Amino acid sequence: MKMERQRLAGPCRQGGGAPTSDSQGRDDLTEPTVLITDNDYASLEIEEEIFSRYGVRLITAQCHSPEEIIEAGREAHILISQYAPITAKVFEALPQVLGAIRYGKGYDNIDVEAATSAGVWVVNLPDYSDEEVAEHAVALMLCLARKVCAMNRAVHGGKWEVSAFEPIRPIHRQTLGIIGIGRIGHVVVNKALDLGMRVLAYDPYISDETIAGRGMRPVGLQELLASSDFVTLHAPLTAETRHMIGLAQFRRMKPSAYLINTSRGKLVDQSVLPQALQEGLIAGAALDVLEEEPPTPDNPLLRCEQVILTPHAAWYSEASAERLHRIPAEESCRILSGPEP
Ligand code: NAD
Repeated sequence: MKMERQRLAGPCRQGGGAPTSDSQGRDDLTEPTVLITDNDYASLEIEEEIFSRYGVRLITAQCHSPEEIIEAGREAHILISQYAPITAKVFEALPQVLGAIRYGKGYDNIDVEAATSAGVWVVNLPDYSDEEVAEHAVALMLCLARKVCAMNRAVHGGKWEVSAFEPIRPIHRQTLGIIGIGRIGHVVVNKALDLGMRVLAYDPYISDETIAGRGMRPVGLQELLASSDFVTLHAPLTAETRHMIGLAQFRRMKPSAYLINTSRGKLVDQSVLPQALQEGLIAGAALDVLEEEPPTPDNPLLRCEQVILTPHAAWYSEASAERLHRIPAEESCRILSGPEP
């Protein structure tokens, strides 16, 4: 990484020369400026330190719409967003913008096609938290298998007994079904194999040979659902995966099986999950992601004892949070100083 310059020479648009004036003829746009369009983080200390080291001005806002980004970004060369929608309208209105960076992996809030036509780099963080998410999925699986949350509730409520939690089966030799064998799915597989589990995998975009070569058995979705003790979701949210787990799929699962979702809430039709649990179609679920985040107080899942919920926290560790803040700032400096991000 070319970061030896303490003061950036001035921004230049990808494949073009340095802009010296904007559409209104102003010629004061050369001070490298980054706008963080929105964020809900406790601190931006890492970004502030990196930008001050490289002479980059940082502006922060809490934009919810393209119009608000346009208003806040009049002098920005880089836009870093958490959720704010960076659309074609933004690139049209802010011709000095060189890069649009997403805090995190998914980048569906950035119109990549419009950015590409405008010659604007789009940057995301595809792998800043693979280990963390895989650890979280395995942690949820172990909590379900060992009934840790239910035991914890009982002991805090004054009950000290094991028999209420029978049966508990050893995780060793149980079957884990993994849907989506990408970056995170692969890490989960290795951890499950280390635990002595049998692993079934369904991923229509990965060859059976590749799956089998990594110690899993490639199967169709129906077989995976019917044969797994735990089903864990690691596919992205697409038109194809939206509600890929609904009542029909719960009916195929074993009554003793558990569902784990650390991917995206909308992969599961969560409106039917309470019914699936009440009817005993599955034994329980652990969800780090919900269809609506945060859940409204009337969300029935909040009252389901067989459901473990975590607040979209799978990505987080001290180390991944450091990467989440550092990489967008470093990538901004790369774009501003000329070389590719
Ligand atoms: P990835 O792109 O590396 O892998 C996704 C895999 O899913 C690919 O192998 C793809 O072929 C497969 N896939 C696509 N469509 C499928 C389908 N219809 N059925 C089965 N498999 C299908 O993604 P990743 O980095 O492993 O991330 C997986 C998911 O985890 C993403 O949805 C991401 O948003 C989510 N995630 C959640 C958190 C969190 O904090 N909870 C953090 C990071 C990522």
